[in-house]
Amino acid sequence: MDDVKTSSAVPGDRTPDTPREPMVVIDGVNKHFGDLHVLRDINLTVGRGEVVVVLGPSGSGKSTLCRAINRLETIESGTISIDGKQLPEEGKPLAQLRADVGMVFQSFNLFAHKTIRDNVTLGPIKVRKKSKSEADQQATQLLERVGVEAQADKYPAQLSGGQQQRVAIARSLAMGPKVMLFDEPTSALDPEMVNEVLDVMVGLAKEGMTMIVVTHEMGFARKAADRVVFMADGQIVEVGTPQEFFTSPKSERAKDFLGKIL
Ligand code: ADP
Ligand code: MG
Repeated sequence: MDDVKTSSAVPGDRTPDTPREPMVVIDGVNKHFGDLHVLRDINLTVGRGEVVVVLGPSGSGKSTLCRAINRLETIESGTISIDGKQLPEEGKPLAQLRADVGMVFQSFNLFAHKTIRDNVTLGPIKVRKKSKSEADQQATQLLERVGVEAQADKYPAQLSGGQQQRVAIARSLAMGPKVMLFDEPTSALDPEMVNEVLDVMVGLAKEGMTMIVVTHEMGFARKAADRVVFMADGQIVEVGTPQEFFTSPKSERAKDFLGKIL
């Protein structure tokens, strides 16, 4: 084989020697739910094009962190910025922010009474002010990309869970997000549908999308993550490459967690 050091398209193979431009900067973030300190001094910078997988036991604050990044939850202290812009409190800039930050949840959240195509075109027409024909054309391309173009005129309930989740990804991508957040996107799927969704996500990662992914799919973490962030009790306990994290976790909590899931 050739001995030239290639800049592989596989994110996990990227050498960490080129510093990335920051895309998501989370700085000193705290949040309580009543007495529960659910996010404790969270600091994390995600570079442009970086794929960060967030792991941790149930209740450790992973979803709250994702929701804070999308301002679905407020924070009490600290700042979060996306591409150099600090998250606004409310109002119109917030709609813009939500368009910049795509989010895919465990439940598919498609609009039940709209066709698959309309699910994908709605945001671009309303928020991005695209013409219907432009939005339709883009929807066709995105539905092809996630492999559900044949379902464009159906309604969500007529699709399998895996297909619906792929439509949810296409719908987020239609907004032209700068970052994609995934909160356990395959947890509600039948096992045979998990890979079709993960494959779409791996494809996105290879294309250079900045991604923050909460998942229990360790295969995805190993394959696609540039870094793994391990959370417990509202704190980031450990950050490392998948290689470092899976082969030599440093903290007792990470060892304990890996012992239970691997
Ligand atoms: P994870 O996604 O890691 O399982 P979450 O971020 O969903 O964790 O939740 C972290 C903690 O905050 C849990 O103890 C959960 O019960 C609590 N929590 C989450 N949302 C709320 C809420 N809206 N009100 C009160 N407590 C909440
Ligand atoms: Mg969660």
